[in-house]
Amino acid sequence: MTFIVPNDSLSKHECPLAVIKCVDFRFRSSDQEFVESGLGYKDFDLYSWPGSAKDVLKNNGFKVSFTEKIVAVSKNLHNVKKLLLLWHWDCGAYGGSKNFAGVSEEEATYLKDLQTVKEMLVKDLPQDLEILMAYSKPAPQGLEYTLVE
Ligand SMILES: [Zn+2]
Repeated sequence: MTFIVPNDSLSKHECPLAVIKCVDFRFRSSDQEFVESGLGYKDFDLYSWPGSAKDVLKNNGFKVSFTEKIVAVSKNLHNVKKLLLLWHWDCGAYGGSKNFAGVSEEEATYLKDLQTVKEMLVKDLPQDLEILMAYSKPAPQGLEYTLVE
């Protein structure tokens, strides 16, 4: 079969942002809406991996491959200025929410790991690439996203 999808981006060569997020299907459309509507980025490179960039903490080949691709593709080809590390609630990479004593412990863990991953990546990425951090947590109407200041 063939299937036609409209696309008005083919002629573009640059985008301002790269995002790494978890593969978890439950968060795919809301994560994307946060980046597009919440942060205002229509064009961004999207990296998706179980646990987002949490595996950077292992300081292994994932970190090497990820930083190489960010530089070679997103920075050098697409000229991105920023990299967003996006964590999500109830992430299986942490054993899910049930693995935490409560909401505040889960939130504190995500914040600590985001900060550590950022500090590790800063050493390997170009100085002029700004690293942003954000995470989601449940709210009455859905998910509340926080951009970490
Ligand atoms: Zn996840």
